Amino acid sequence: MRPFSSEPSGARRRPTVRLELHCLMCGAVAGILEDRRVVRPALPGSVRYDGRRLSCGRCGSGLIPGDEVREPDGWRENPESNR
Ligand SMILES: [Zn+2]
Repeated sequence: MRPFSSEPSGARRRPTVRLELHCLMCGAVAGILEDRRVVRPALPGSVRYDGRRLSCGRCGSGLIPGDEVREPDGWRENPESNR
């Protein structure tokens, strides 16, 4: 008999929480904040980081987190697949 010790590492996969970073002044979505730690700029240089806080790369104003972008389960799968 085999012991079922074939647990894949990292089996618990948390969904990534993404927040849109809106600029206070120009209202543009400068980037996406992932898991409250990783910042992904929408465009190269669209998010500035001065050591303490994030600011808009266009006008230099502050960024506020906006809507949460959620990825529901199975969002990658195409529901319109015909059989
Ligand atoms: Zn701005």
